Amino acid sequence: MSFANLGLSTELLTSLHTQGISAPSAIQEVAIPQALLGKDIWATAQTGSGKTLAFTLPILQALDTKKIQKTRRVEALILAPTRELAAQIGQVIEGFKGTITKPFKLVVVHGGVSINPQMLRLRGGADIVVATPGRLLDLVQHNAVDLSNVKIFILDEADRLLGLGFSQELSSILDLLPAKRQNLLFSATLGNEVQSLADLTLHDPLKIEIKPQAEQALDIHQRAIMVDNSQRTQLLRHLIQTEKWNRALVFVATKFSAEIVADKLRKAKILAEPFHGQLSQGKRTQVLADFKASKIQVVIATDVASRGLDIAMLPTVINYDLPRSTQDYIHRIGRTARAGASGLVVSFVSAESEGHWQLIQKRLALQLSMETIKGFESKVTTLGNAESKISHLITLDPNGGIKGKRPNKKDKLRQAKALDQSAKDL
Ligand code: AMP
Repeated sequence: MSFANLGLSTELLTSLHTQGISAPSAIQEVAIPQALLGKDIWATAQTGSGKTLAFTLPILQALDTKKIQKTRRVEALILAPTRELAAQIGQVIEGFKGTITKPFKLVVVHGGVSINPQMLRLRGGADIVVATPGRLLDLVQHNAVDLSNVKIFILDEADRLLGLGFSQELSSILDLLPAKRQNLLFSATLGNEVQSLADLTLHDPLKIEIKPQAEQALDIHQRAIMVDNSQRTQLLRHLIQTEKWNRALVFVATKFSAEIVADKLRKAKILAEPFHGQLSQGKRTQVLADFKASKIQVVIATDVASRGLDIAMLPTVINYDLPRSTQDYIHRIGRTARAGASGLVVSFVSAESEGHWQLIQKRLALQLSMETIKGFESKVTTLGNAESKISHLITLDPNGGIKGKRPNKKDKLRQAKALDQSAKDL
């Protein structure tokens, strides 16, 4: 299949060719022709599938063929959950500037930076706005943006938007949009909340399901290594050196761990940097740029980095701390093996987290053999840890997350019951 068969304009085809993008990905093949026809789309696809171009190309084509407007209110609105993803989408769209005849105005707005320049940029409207929900509503409150003319509305990573607690913001934004508009919703996972959002947003959508890379399991080698929690940093260092991981993204559970692990690696002369939500936007952008430019070898990140980031040629992802949910596992491993490259994902499992790991494997229908690395064999047996295993097992919520509350007496009784059931299930 070629892009030429999808109904795209000659100048977009030329631009794709110039950018070295030759054949459409699965989602682009299905979504682009339908989006060009004005259809609403609900696609289950994660980052790495090529979804950004799947919505960018139809937007640009609509701009391309349209007469120049007198007023320049917002024509296309793209909502993204994180600053990084919004910036990244902006870069993809920016890549078409100058390659299509109609000059278009793109404005990317997100929190973490001053609102004033964004207000200035939005004066006179914009053809395309890429935004995170909170900042967009701030701008609406400042009368800096008019959404009443939006023709195409994109919800990117809708599940993540909801997961980050944006549901109230989303419904406020939906109220500001005109009833007649085209909607494209992208989500890596399905669930009741996404379903409700889709019901609220979409009209008779075409449903497209692109299997996550974890399920396709084509070119990602997944490994699990048993190691005591206290030995993980040393093991990480050992593997980086012996297996020559020259570009690795390591996921940890907390900002604190990100700082500590990065610090320890640096002391071992490994170029490592932390990446988490408490860093300034400038620092986050710098770390990513340095990582992409291979000035940094290892990035130690919290899940803020697990979505949406497009780091081409990222061969190795390490779960230093296991992800909280199966969805997060999929998103994390989606950072590697992008655009057809092969990747390696290594999960560190300890006696304490083994129960949780079993559950992740069960939900993903994975059965990885557990490795041990010489010199890093676990000294903690799993026997004494039944209780921690139980709490991992039963505090998983139906959507795959883990609730943060400590168990009370009733919970403990329920846990005991659940353990029986879990033992049968596993
Ligand atoms: P996305 O899923 O939109 O984040 O895209 C993931 C990566 O795949 C980005 O680096 C894109 O530039 C790249 N990409 C998107 N579509 C294609 C395509 N048709 N052929 C090759 N690479 C692509």
